[in-house]
Order: sequence, then structure tokens, then C-alpha cells
Amino acid sequence: MLDLILKVRETILSGGEIAYEEALTLTEASPEEIPYLAAVANEVRRKFAGSRVESCALSNIKSGGCSEDCKFCAQSAHYKTDSPVYPQIGVEEIVAQAKAAEAMGATEFCLVSSGWGVTSDKEFQTVLEAVRRISTETGLFADCSLGFMTDGQMKALKDAGLYRNNHNLEASRDYFGKVCTTHPYQNRVNHVRMAADAGVHPCSGGILGMGESPKDRVDLAFELKRLHVDCVPVNVLNPRRGTPLGEVGPIPPMEIIKTVAIYRLILPKSTLKIAGGREVNLRDLQAMAMQAGANGLILGNYLTTMGRSPEQDIQMLKDLGFEVTSPVGISSERA
Ligand code: SF4
Repeated sequence: MLDLILKVRETILSGGEIAYEEALTLTEASPEEIPYLAAVANEVRRKFAGSRVESCALSNIKSGGCSEDCKFCAQSAHYKTDSPVYPQIGVEEIVAQAKAAEAMGATEFCLVSSGWGVTSDKEFQTVLEAVRRISTETGLFADCSLGFMTDGQMKALKDAGLYRNNHNLEASRDYFGKVCTTHPYQNRVNHVRMAADAGVHPCSGGILGMGESPKDRVDLAFELKRLHVDCVPVNVLNPRRGTPLGEVGPIPPMEIIKTVAIYRLILPKSTLKIAGGREVNLRDLQAMAMQAGANGLILGNYLTTMGRSPEQDIQMLKDLGFEVTSPVGISSERA
């Protein structure tokens, strides 16, 4: 295993790519071998992204009542959960949240809305105005995660200042059907492509710990690589009571760290963000995940669960020697 880790290191640092079979073999790394794998992933991260790190805050601008049946999601109308249900909030509230997030050290602000997409024109105009104002009134990069959008909506958001559009694939192509039956995987793949075609940076990741195999995790990373996503949020299932995955047991923290490291080796140039579920699943090993190749963090308060305080997160990043900054490598792009 250590020989393979060193071989992959040489390949990537000299500009090559990890092979699929190599990535699969790395999933067999033992707990004793994982720190070596993490160190190599961190070296790859330093080569391609230096010490810069992104910190992203989320606003759940509309919650619950979704028509889809994603088995991990507390916002699906198919399940009875204690997750809040409320209609879309207004522009002033969204912008106020963005300014508060910027003051706490966030570099990006993502508007997240439950449901298939933004189908009402009034709601879409609210999103458009909020993105426009965040782009002009703050130093934040404005991102959206609004479900399925039309081509026209994506282009209008791009013109309003949208930087990234998030649409997670959530799982591998083979495993997706086990966690969602109301829409096909290909819809998600097509939507990631549609954002890129509109000139918006595509952000897409998944959720670990839904019962998938190590091969599924590797398959998801290679799917994201083929889509050239520039940002990959790595979520870990935080089982929500009332959802079909509400009783799933936790994934071991070292397994998460191993997966983060392998994702960095598969996606050496993408921003790799440690996202929802990190506190409950990684516990004291959150900092180790940031030293296993990650270069981004979703700050506390994600969607239907509360994270720890943003101040604690920013302090952790500084303590690790990261520089909290604009999206990696493109900080002058919006100027
Ligand atoms: S993940 Fe998105 S599409 Fe699926 S149920 Fe939740 S809000 Fe709806």
C-alpha cells in the first residue's frame, strides 16, 4: 500500500492522473496507512492550491415541502420530519444574512432552496435580485443551489453575478437509484453540464455514509472528474429522524478522512469542501480532514441541521495555517 501511495504521489505531482484501479486499491488502506495517504493528499493540495482555503456560508431561503423522495433529505414532503417548513424569504433578509456571513469570515454565500426548482416568477425574481445585490454590495461570491433550473434562469443568474451553481450528484450512478426514485441520475448530470455551458462554475458533490460501497465513492469522484466540476462538497450523512435513512449507523471518521484524501488525488485541482455532517461524524478529527487534501469548508448552520459556530471554524482554518480567501485561484476574476 505504501508503495502505491508513493507511486500515485509521483504521478500526480509530475502532472499525471491517478488510475481508476489505483484509486480503488487505495480504499483498502488500513487505519495505520491512512495518515500517509492523507499527507500525500495534502501535498497535492499544497501544490495546486497553496495555503488558500474557501469558506462558504449557506442560506436556506426556502425549506421543506419538496416533491422529490431523496431518502437522506429531511426536506422531502414524502417523509414526516421535524425539519422546518417555510416559504421563500425576502431579498432584504437574504442580503442581511450574506453581510453577516461576510463579517464572520465567509468568502462565498450560497442560496439554497428546497424543491424541484424555482417555478414561480416572483420567487425567481427574488433570487435574481438577491444575487445581484450580494455581488455588488459585498465582497462575497454569490452561489445558488436551487434544484433544477431552466437554461434561461441559469443565464439570467449568470448575468446577475452568479459565480457557482451547486447541484450535487449525491451518489454514484449505480447507487443513486437506492436513495432517490423520483428523478434519474442523468437529470443531475445534465444539470451540472448546463451550468458549465452557461458560463457558471459547476459545484457538485455527494453524501458519504448512505450505505454505499467504497467503489461507489470512487465512482462518484470519477463522475465528477469527467464533469470538470470546480468545487466538490463532501457531505457525510447526518441521519434525520423520519427519513428512510434516519437509522443508518455512522461511518467511521478515519473512513471519511481516507475518502477525502482519495478525492483529492482523483480531483487534484478542484476545490474540495468539507460540508454537512462533519461535526457529528468527524468529531475531533475535523482538523485532520482539512489536512487530508481539503481546501474548503462549509461553515456552520447547514440547512436543516446546526453546525458549530463560524468563529470556531475560521479559527481552526487559521490554526492549520490556511489563508481564508476568495475562490481558489480566481480571486481577481470578478474585479
Ligand atoms: S435533496 Fe433536494 S431534491 Fe431531494 S428531497 Fe431534498 S430538497 Fe428535494
